[in-house]
Amino acid sequence: MKLLLLGHEYKYAVEQIMLVLFPQERPEYITDSTDNTLKSPRGETHQSNSVTYIINDNSENRPGNISARSRLTYDNIYAQATTTILKDTRTHKGTARIKRDKLTGKLTTDRLLQRIIKQSFYRAAINLIDNPPVWGSLTGIRPSQMAMVSLKQNISDSKTAKWLTREYYVSPDRAALCTKTARASLDILQTLDVSTDVALYVGIPFCPSRCSYCSFVSNSVEKSFRLVEPFEEALLSEIEIIARSVKALGLRIISIYIGGGTPTSLPDDSFETVLRAISQAFNSDAIREYTIEAGRPDTITERKLDIMREHGVGRVCVNPQSMSDDVLKTIGRKHTSENIADAVNLVRSKSFAINMDLIAGLPGDTPDGFKHSLDAVMSMNPESITVHTLALKKGSRITLDSPVIPDGNEVAEMLDYASSRLSNRGYSPYYLYRQKFTSGGFENVGWCLPGYEGLYNVCMMEELCSVLALGGGGVTKLVAQGGRIERIFNAKYPKEYISQTEKIASKVNRIQSFLAD
Ligand code: SF4
Repeated sequence: MKLLLLGHEYKYAVEQIMLVLFPQERPEYITDSTDNTLKSPRGETHQSNSVTYIINDNSENRPGNISARSRLTYDNIYAQATTTILKDTRTHKGTARIKRDKLTGKLTTDRLLQRIIKQSFYRAAINLIDNPPVWGSLTGIRPSQMAMVSLKQNISDSKTAKWLTREYYVSPDRAALCTKTARASLDILQTLDVSTDVALYVGIPFCPSRCSYCSFVSNSVEKSFRLVEPFEEALLSEIEIIARSVKALGLRIISIYIGGGTPTSLPDDSFETVLRAISQAFNSDAIREYTIEAGRPDTITERKLDIMREHGVGRVCVNPQSMSDDVLKTIGRKHTSENIADAVNLVRSKSFAINMDLIAGLPGDTPDGFKHSLDAVMSMNPESITVHTLALKKGSRITLDSPVIPDGNEVAEMLDYASSRLSNRGYSPYYLYRQKFTSGGFENVGWCLPGYEGLYNVCMMEELCSVLALGGGGVTKLVAQGGRIERIFNAKYPKEYISQTEKIASKVNRIQSFLAD
């Protein structure tokens, strides 16, 4: 799609909404002032920063061609976005505006202007698309943050949901879902002291094998066994250094989450050494949740569970993704659904709370197959169930092998089933996020029984408090009151992580100067 931006340079916002509404199109920016694809009814000349574009109406727009012009203008009171889409010989126009007095500070201004640009694009495009996206003109990964802003102004849940539908064209069921998760986040926020409370994340970037949909840079333990010991050493040193900072800054660790990768793929001794180091380094008085991802049932052993118990772990994630043996095989898992049930029984026998993850839209799966998986998982009574939508990420085997994957309508059927079954059984949605490149543009939702919200998940996704991340692939997210966010990335590959220990000193300086402000 040819795109012309006038009066702004929010390319990313325009591309995002274009890809949501016209997934087959790719952006092509007009830089040639003689380009006449964007035919205007009258013929106009526009000034956009340093480039003058002349839109010429002397030639016919070719049938099937589609192009869009996104313009931002100001008057004394409003900033107004106008999108004009030209398809074949017809013009479709959409506008959205915001009061200029709301444009305070660069971050807020950028966010609000991009929002009206996307709204105007959506309004212009709506008559051209067959299946309006369930998230309407919202393209961000955290739609519940929008609902939170409304709820914080004491606007009721139902009015907030209606506002999302009216203003942003979010479907009524997604608007209700989004408002529920925003309410759950707000309830959690009220229990936090954001000046001192932080969550701790530890990344263990090893897995027994690589799943076909995974783009996470995890190393198979078998292939990289020699890296486990130096990784462990580097991690122990980072634990010690970060713990000193936590103490010096007077921070309270409220949640520990060990993820990856698959932390339980470490050999027992290494696993125990890491957990012991965490227990010794950090004060546990304020810890409200300690979770370990034991994603692959083939890595869960009684010994590991005993080590977890000894060190205060209360919640274990067993993540089958599917309970269909064929699908498990297709995605590269080396275990069966029966192994999953056995692992869950073992974890349950040690009295842990259990989370289980499923993915809607896996290769080879069907709506009936997914329904069977959900029913099977629910029959094991986990305290929480996270239902993801498959994201086709660059670098994953799926994107290279091009297997048959369920289409958007099939994924919608899977998610609708999950939503109704889980609600009927007393689970509530407590966190929600979206990823790029998901089938149908759908979402990932964490569901839980009352009182079993995953605190780390909410704090991290909704940016309620800072997260200090250690280990491979860890992303430290520093959150200031007022919304300023700073991210610090640890190396992903174990090999890089091991050789970049000097970076930890600069990370500590950044953490200290941000949190001491
Ligand atoms: S278990 Fe998770 S991190 Fe490991 S390969 Fe599979 S999807 Fe990737």
